[in-house]
Order: sequence, then structure tokens, then C-alpha cells
Amino acid sequence: MAKQYDVIVVGAGPGGMTSALYASRANLSVLLLDRGIYGGQMNNTAAIENYPGFSSVLGPDLAKDMYDGATQFGAEYAYGNVQGIEDKGAVKVVTTDTETYEAKAVVLAMGSEYRKLGVPGEEEYGGRGVSYCAVCDGAFFKNREVIVVGGGDSAIEEGLYLTQLASKVTVIHRRDQLRAQKIIQDRAFANDKMNFVWNSNVTEVLGDDQKVTGVKVVNNQTNEETVIDASGVFIYVGILPKTEEIASLGVTDADGWIATNDKMETKVPGIFAIGDVRAKDLRQITTAVGDGGVAGQQVFKYIESLSDTGVKA
Ligand code: NAP
Repeated sequence: MAKQYDVIVVGAGPGGMTSALYASRANLSVLLLDRGIYGGQMNNTAAIENYPGFSSVLGPDLAKDMYDGATQFGAEYAYGNVQGIEDKGAVKVVTTDTETYEAKAVVLAMGSEYRKLGVPGEEEYGGRGVSYCAVCDGAFFKNREVIVVGGGDSAIEEGLYLTQLASKVTVIHRRDQLRAQKIIQDRAFANDKMNFVWNSNVTEVLGDDQKVTGVKVVNNQTNEETVIDASGVFIYVGILPKTEEIASLGVTDADGWIATNDKMETKVPGIFAIGDVRAKDLRQITTAVGDGGVAGQQVFKYIESLSDTGVKA
């Protein structure tokens, strides 16, 4: 028989952990599932400077503190790679690669993942110089030259982090203006180790039979093609929602993001969505945590409403 809970939270990033905290503190039985270590993208972030209460905190440290908080009122945390969720009205069936669970409500908090650039060499040199995580892989490039592709917050923040290790960080961006927040831009422009190649697209990751040696770049104003030598290529060209496995629920839009109302309710009663998987403007730890608190409380109200109407879960 399937294990039963009041609430299953799918994804143990900051949003999911906050939902688990609020729901378990409201005395609901909660299962927090993740296919990796708790913390989500916080684990790939060195210094977090925009989470209130901390002038600067290491991502993995904040993740551990949030996990301790999330489980202190009895929420269970388990490995689970969710393969599908079925809506049976008052019961939701959550299937992972190893288990089947039932719950009265589900909070979707799977987050997002880095988009691939989609050029030749990117896949081939994955783990051999191509990376999507400066905190994980930066140390391999001590005193070497690296390239960062992208112009958003991730590219510039992680580029700045890499300046502490690499001898030179070259940011290649497709426009002549960065998308990153102004404060991060200012720091990047003031850093001697940061260089910028504007109006340029990486068309190929180059390498020898072992590792990356550079990238081929085309200037999209002049069509001039150049090769930039580097030992590492860090790609930060945006994010995609991790919602493929739950597509059959019918709560995702054409791009895979999930629309909710301000109670974090999706269009399926009893299915809530929070954090980066939501269709929204600002994807931050603070906004994920805010979403998580709202969903934790709304789940409680939803389950109360099931018993008020005499629906048996
Ligand atoms: P993002 O904001 O979507 O930026 C993606 C960057 O990649 C943009 O500069 C974009 O160029 C470029 N790009 C997209 N597709 C490309 C392609 N095919 N080839 C070359 N360049 C391409 O993504 P992100 O930086 O990963 O950030 C994701 C979210 O997390 C954002 O909401 C961000 O604010 C948030 N975040 C916040 C912080 C923080 O607050 N400290 C840190 C990290 C991330 P264009 O500019 O031309 O579109």
C-alpha cells in the first residue's frame, strides 16, 4: 500500500523547505522529496549577499540551516526522483523511481536548471572544461584563463567568483549591455581580471582529445570570427523549469513554467507551486521562501476545507 501523507513537497530548495516547515508546524504530516541533496541551487552559490539577516552567507551553510529548520517539526525528508503526479481529486498520487506515495495536497517546488548553449563541443567537453557551476568546478582552473558565457546575474556573479581562482575571466555576451543587476555590473567592471567581449556569440567549444582549449566566437555586428583560448568555459545563458515529469498534470504553460494565483494555487485544486518553477519575474531565495510560507499555510487551509466538506482523502 502507498505511504500516505497530508502533504508532499517535491523539491527541497529554499521554497520547498519553507513549505515543509510551515505545513509541519501546522501539525500536518509532510514528506519532502528531492532527487539530490537539499538546498537546490544554493549549493552552487558561494556567497549569498541578498538574503536578509546575513550580510554574506555560504550557500551550502544556508541550505543546512534551512534544512534543520524545515525538519524540526517532524517533516520527513527522503530521496525521490518524481516520475509523475496523478490528480485523483482528494488524493494525489506521487510516483518516484522507487516508491508510490499518496497525499491530500502536493507542493511543486522543483526549481529550474541551467539552459544549455546548444553548440558543438558543449556536450562533448562536459566535465572536461565545460561547466555550469563555478563553485563546483572553479578550483580546477586555478591560475588559468576561463570564459563565462552570458550577461545575467548568474554569469556575472559566478564570473566574479571565478576571478578569485582564475588568472583571467572573459565574459562573452551577445549584446553590448549586461542584464545583471547594476551593483553586480559595477563590481565586474571594476575588477581587473574581468574582460568583456561584446556583441558576440559562441558558436563552438574547441578542444583537443582531452580537454577544452577555447571557443570559437562570431561578432554578430561584423560577422568576424575569432578564437579565444581558455581552459574552462562556464555557461550561464538562462534557466529552464524542471517540470517535464509533471507535464501530464496540465499545470504548465507552453514553456514549462507553472502559473499560480497569489495563494500559490495552480489550476488543479490541492496542487500548489512555488519558487523558480512558477511563472514570475523575480527568482530569488527570498521570493522562493515567501512563496513557500504562503503555500505551507494554504495547504493547511485546503486540507481543512476537505474535512469541512466531508471529502475523504
Ligand atoms: P537570465 O537572467 O535569464 O540571463 C541569461 C543571460 O544569458 C542573458 O544575458 C541572455 O542574454 C544570455 N543568453 C540567453 N540565451 C543565450 C544564448 N542562446 N546565447 C548567448 N547568450 C544567451 O539567467 P540567469 O542569469 O541564470 O538568472 C536566472 C534568474 O535567477 C534571474 O531571475 C536572476 O535575476 C536570478 N539570479 C539572481 C541572483 C542574485 O540576485 N544574486 C543570482 C543569480 C541568479 P540577453 O541579456 O541578451 O537576453
